[in-house]
Amino acid sequence: MFSVLRNLGWFFRREKRRYTVGLVLLIVAGVAELAPPRLLGNAIDEIVNGSISWTSLTRYILMILGMLVFIYFITYIWMRELFGGSNLVERLLRSRFMAHLLRMTPPFFERNRTGDLMARATNDLRSVAQTAGFGMLTLTDSTIFLAVIFIAMSTIISLKLTLAAIIPLPFIALAMSIYGKVIHQRYTVAQDAFGDMNDQVLESVAGIRVIRAYVQERNDEKRFESITNDVYEKNLAVARVDAFFEPTIRLCVGISYAIGLAYGIYLVFHNELTLGELVSFNMYLGMMIWPMFAIGELINVMQRGGASLDRVNEILYTKPDVEDKSTPAEVSQPERIEFKDVTFRYPTSSVDNLNQINLNLHPGETLGVVGRTGSGKSTLLKQLLHEYPLGTGEILISGVPLENIPAEKLHSWIGYVPQEQILFSKTVRQNIQFGLKDASDETILEAIHTAAFDQDLQTLSDGLDTLVGEKGVALSGGQKQRVSLSRAFIADPEILILDDALSAVDARTEARIIENIRSKRSGKTTLISTHRLSAIEHADHIIVLEKGQIIEQGTHEELLSQGGWYREQYDRQQVESNLSDGEVS
Ligand code: ATP
Ligand code: MG
Repeated sequence: MFSVLRNLGWFFRREKRRYTVGLVLLIVAGVAELAPPRLLGNAIDEIVNGSISWTSLTRYILMILGMLVFIYFITYIWMRELFGGSNLVERLLRSRFMAHLLRMTPPFFERNRTGDLMARATNDLRSVAQTAGFGMLTLTDSTIFLAVIFIAMSTIISLKLTLAAIIPLPFIALAMSIYGKVIHQRYTVAQDAFGDMNDQVLESVAGIRVIRAYVQERNDEKRFESITNDVYEKNLAVARVDAFFEPTIRLCVGISYAIGLAYGIYLVFHNELTLGELVSFNMYLGMMIWPMFAIGELINVMQRGGASLDRVNEILYTKPDVEDKSTPAEVSQPERIEFKDVTFRYPTSSVDNLNQINLNLHPGETLGVVGRTGSGKSTLLKQLLHEYPLGTGEILISGVPLENIPAEKLHSWIGYVPQEQILFSKTVRQNIQFGLKDASDETILEAIHTAAFDQDLQTLSDGLDTLVGEKGVALSGGQKQRVSLSRAFIADPEILILDDALSAVDARTEARIIENIRSKRSGKTTLISTHRLSAIEHADHIIVLEKGQIIEQGTHEELLSQGGWYREQYDRQQVESNLSDGEVS
């Protein structure tokens, strides 16, 4: 049950001072609270035997008041320390969680859905953090404080009476441990359901345009209703056990009181106890109610924290699918890129998505990758990013196998424009600066010029400071592509990968961009995949993919003369472009 605290051991060691101060003061406050009932009991006894005087009465009252002020201050301090610790551990764990997510590669995000990850990063982390604050409080109160009261009652008042009054205690412990197990189980299930619901919300909000366009609002609402119902049912199952805690404790406390009162009065009649002592005793019994509740709360918090920690650790303990070698190779500059018999399949795929690929790309060359949709163009280009575990065969950069090159180094060489544009909900400038930190406006404008985005920029309301909206919704498809291109151009990378990155621009703009790429990138390696052959006519080498295999390759002229898929496609596109040119003129 306390595995969660053991797991947070590093934190308690780190925050040793905070917890020492907090827990010691918590105990001091508890002990101090024992004084007023005893003072009151003494006063009553003095009244009963008639020895009370104004001075002694004032002294009692002043002492009680003094005690209360003292308790007020130290309670403030321990609360601040303990609950501050709770917030601190939440922050630390969350940063660690996020850092871990950033180390993960795409296969991880194919297995884990965003909504669920978010549930773990918010709800679950909070419930883990609670164990470091409220959990520590209940732990102290239900053990040390309870023991202190117990000792006070048995030494100051009467051992016999105390023992009789705590007979119900073991039953509380027993009931709590039974409830605790059930809570743990049900809470895990409820948190999983919450993750699913999060995911659903994310997907619906992100896909709202499609949902509306297909008039699926009602269906989506229904789907959501059933999922919220599921979350509700599962949380209700937790609440059903939760609800047992309080009545069980109240019952036991009630029995305690009854025993204490009945047996106490008996003892008073037999002159083994004064009336004042009986009053004090009853006040102490009252003080035991909270520690007994604390036992229940403790079990509850620890079980939830434990269940949540399991869910968080499940993520934290997943190893990255692609890890750097412990002894990485030294490569300062990427030179030749070679593929030797590369065969690859995605972790979830049942067929090879790349099959026996052989390629040899010298520095400064441009590679064109074409082929029908789904033929493996993106898959081939992404191999260089090393996002997935490699398949068989070898990929070499400057003669060094890809797996021996540290990921950070590799990515610093590469400028990548993915097929799906990803823009952040920031300004155009910030989106482009992503490629080169603190780039000056001059450099940004140059990259924008290369990407043929300059004319569009003038039409944007705030120029470089225009906000692009979430995922770039405020830009057109072609504009988004060219902002992405600018982002890749600005770092002037050694290797530039354009995955169908010109698909949404018109033929004339495409020609302008290609021309710019050719002049700006002489001497640097460029890989381009496309459906429009005009974008790669100039390439030094072109490959045609079909079901992950190279079926034709050569230069533009060579491929035309081969008369295969490339020729056929080229002729068709010529006809189409002639037709559209005709329309324009
Ligand atoms: P397009 O021209 O439409 O962009 P493409 O040539 O780029 O197509 P790829 O994206 O490389 O095609 O996909 C090649 C094959 O790999 C497809 O059959 C696809 O279903 C499969 N595939 C792509 N991504 C994944 C993935 N993450 N997991 C499993 N299979 C995948
Ligand atoms: Mg693709």
